[in-house]
Amino acid sequence: TENNASMMLRRERAVPRGVGQIHPVFIKRADNAVICDVEGNLFIDFAGGIAVLNTGHRHPKVIEAVKRQLDLYTHTCFQVVAYEPYVALCEKINSLVPGDFPKKTLLVTTGSEAVENAVKIARAATGRAGVIAFAGGYHGRTMMTLAMTGKVMPYSSGMGLMPGNVFRARFPDALHGVSEDDAIASIEQIFKTDAEPRDIAALVVEPVQGEGGFRVASPQFMQRLRALCDLHGILLIADEVQTGAGRTGSFFAMEQMGVTADLTTFAKSVAGGFPLAGVCGRAEVMDAIAPGGLGGTYAGNPVSCAAALAVLEVFEEENLLTRARTLGDMLMERLQNLAEKDARIAEVRGLGAMVAFELFTADGHPDPELASRLVISARERGLLLLSCGQYANVIRILVPLTASDVEVDDGMKIIEACLAEL
Ligand code: PMP
Repeated sequence: TENNASMMLRRERAVPRGVGQIHPVFIKRADNAVICDVEGNLFIDFAGGIAVLNTGHRHPKVIEAVKRQLDLYTHTCFQVVAYEPYVALCEKINSLVPGDFPKKTLLVTTGSEAVENAVKIARAATGRAGVIAFAGGYHGRTMMTLAMTGKVMPYSSGMGLMPGNVFRARFPDALHGVSEDDAIASIEQIFKTDAEPRDIAALVVEPVQGEGGFRVASPQFMQRLRALCDLHGILLIADEVQTGAGRTGSFFAMEQMGVTADLTTFAKSVAGGFPLAGVCGRAEVMDAIAPGGLGGTYAGNPVSCAAALAVLEVFEEENLLTRARTLGDMLMERLQNLAEKDARIAEVRGLGAMVAFELFTADGHPDPELASRLVISARERGLLLLSCGQYANVIRILVPLTASDVEVDDGMKIIEACLAEL
């Protein structure tokens, strides 16, 4: 019979090494916040498949909706024969994305594809080709989004130069010496040395950088970005692929920023474990591309749409936005208490239940090694963690919002025990 080690061996022979794997674990089944591996080991899941499982593994409502859909139809291609769940989901998303203006939504399959399409739409709407993105930002692995992703190693390493017309601004990070003024100045610098504002179609920003280390944009910073965009006719794209679907305590993080984006990308937890992503934006901007210019064979697959509609119902029925805020408060308090006693925790930060802590060495430098040892020893004690950040020294918590207080407490105890031991 197979175990994790034998499966890892088969994987290494059959799958390219470029597809990384954080945990050398093969799953057998999962329920809500717990994963059972092929050897029968149980793990509390603080990774959530990278921010996909805000409603947990196999939420009964989601599974029920998917099963119902499976018995009706699973594919037509929306551009060939349409179906109601696609339209119903777009209507729902239009009402959820912040902004007091008419909106339209395009559905696609992955977060990368959503960002690609947001850029295409912004280019068509403005007649401009330039894009400003942030250092440490993550927008995907397709060629254009790789150009926008602000971290070379490992994402684009060895692949040569990425498509052009992407200009890199600095993201505010007080801990690493970048103020909000510095970040704004870096955009002004782009205008001075690289591209005129009239050549920039869009500025793309994650309200909280995900892969970049859960670095939170302040409402004040977001308002300054909005003002710059307004001044120059640049579209503001909020990449809410990781922040969206309730993680931060509002369905979209931009609700807490005091300004609205022109275009918003979403994916991940929106469909509770099924592949679905999209772009929502101002109706007239979304309509800038002529018929035939948007879409995809599987884009807005009916099974994924059914799952997403169920996820939205679960959010209402189980008050998951409130849960995200209380869970976030609980995690923050717990981690802050830990940080008071442990100098290696240089910062605890987050928005809602999107919470992380950054690890430093005794002499005040990023400590990716400690982060990596913590991930390993937590796994050995039955907790799945993920690191992130420009220096891979940040531990992020993406536990399902549906996890019980006991499960969250058990997970936190493991983190505390590991840090005490390491
Ligand atoms: N944008 C953000 C903010 C993300 O976090 C991610 C995925 N980590 C993506 C885009 C890309 O999404 P996908 O992996 O579904 O292509």
